[in-house]
Amino acid sequence: MKVLKFGGTSVGSVNSILSVKKIVEAIEEPVIVVVSALGGITDKLLATSTMASKGDLAYEKELSEIIARHLDVIEGVIEDKEVRMDVQKKVMALLDELSNIFKGVYLINDLSAKTSDTIVSYGERLSSLIVSNVIKDAKLFDSRKYIKTVKQFNKHIVDFDLTNKLIKETFSPLPKVSLVPGFISSSTETGEVTNLGRGGSDYTASILATALDANTLEIWTDVDGFMTADPRVISSAYVIDRLTFTEAMELCNFGAKVIYPPTIYPVYHKNIPIRILNTFNPTAPGTYISKERVKEEGKAIIKGISSINDTCLITVQGLGMVGVIGVNYRIFKTLAKNGISVFMVSQASSENNTTFAVRNADADLAVQVLNDEFALERAQGDMNDTVAEKDLATVAIVGENMKRTPGIAGKLFGTLGRAGISVIACAQGASETNISFVIKHKYLRKALNSIHDSFFLS
Ligand code: ASP
Ligand code: MG
Repeated sequence: MKVLKFGGTSVGSVNSILSVKKIVEAIEEPVIVVVSALGGITDKLLATSTMASKGDLAYEKELSEIIARHLDVIEGVIEDKEVRMDVQKKVMALLDELSNIFKGVYLINDLSAKTSDTIVSYGERLSSLIVSNVIKDAKLFDSRKYIKTVKQFNKHIVDFDLTNKLIKETFSPLPKVSLVPGFISSSTETGEVTNLGRGGSDYTASILATALDANTLEIWTDVDGFMTADPRVISSAYVIDRLTFTEAMELCNFGAKVIYPPTIYPVYHKNIPIRILNTFNPTAPGTYISKERVKEEGKAIIKGISSINDTCLITVQGLGMVGVIGVNYRIFKTLAKNGISVFMVSQASSENNTTFAVRNADADLAVQVLNDEFALERAQGDMNDTVAEKDLATVAIVGENMKRTPGIAGKLFGTLGRAGISVIACAQGASETNISFVIKHKYLRKALNSIHDSFFLS
């Protein structure tokens, strides 16, 4: 069996849903089909919730657009009149519930996390209901019944023991086509509806593939696969045909929004390959992600370049840090306690400073909590005030074949030097699968262009 996940754009219009139908019905083996909400609906549900909670009556207009969008799709994808009326009735019942919840939020001017999670769950509940009536012999399941979460640091994380057990029970015997809403789940402790985070439908598909020992996980999206660089910036970027799990993880953690990063881990664990495919170009080969590392003659030594433009560098510095044990421990403990995520770290061997990268939105809090943590050392003159440099960008080159290949860093920094771009900080882990560096944001485009030319085109 295999698991196919179709994203929001793939189920976002009449034509795309009909492509999904064609793709799924052509498969002979049993399949589980995971769907996202209709493209743009999750954002719209969240925006509408905010409006309603602020007492803005304009939420009603947004809501009526959400309703119209679903009814239009049903009109276009379900030919049989009787089936269509039945689906309309069921969808309207869900939309009525949703309208009542919005009304409540509007009246009491309050939107709790629990209510927001409930509202946003309607996206996938509606899309899965519709698509299950389009694909021949599809059986609809409710992911809230078998994807279970527990709370950790204010986040819902998957309760794998229970989830795996429930999935095995639910899908035995396995129907020819099972239709499953992505993203949504429920709490092990309270039974309340939860979700796996934005982009979480990919993760739903991966969890199912892993629990049921699928032979492949297919992620159907609206691009041909992972690209060598962001095609909006680099017009000569092209599709990468093969990646290892590690390379895919490196690339999607960092900018490339092809898959939701947590997706890779469960299937990696069981060595189930992932294929990235395009619903709008179904015959394209896509990107194949597996354990095997293939070194192809004449191919570039790196696999891809990824970047994030939202970068702030924080530096904790002071001569009093040199040789003192526990400074980094205190830095990262303080950041963790305040829920600040760090995505790059660099420390010179002199130990005189530690620099790390966070999102711009986290910068002020990071500076404040670190200044508090080291208040005594600062007062004694052992350490300086923590400084933040905003409006930067981080770029990473990724590829497992960089391992033990000399000259890659030389080529990278030579290229940047010739382009007149100064590197503010850099990091390479000992796994040698990623070299990351930080530059001024205004140089990002130029940096990506020069590196892409130098590694992929020459
Ligand atoms: N609908 C959810 C979102 O937009 C989950 C997903 O599409 O993967 O984040
Ligand atoms: Mg997605």
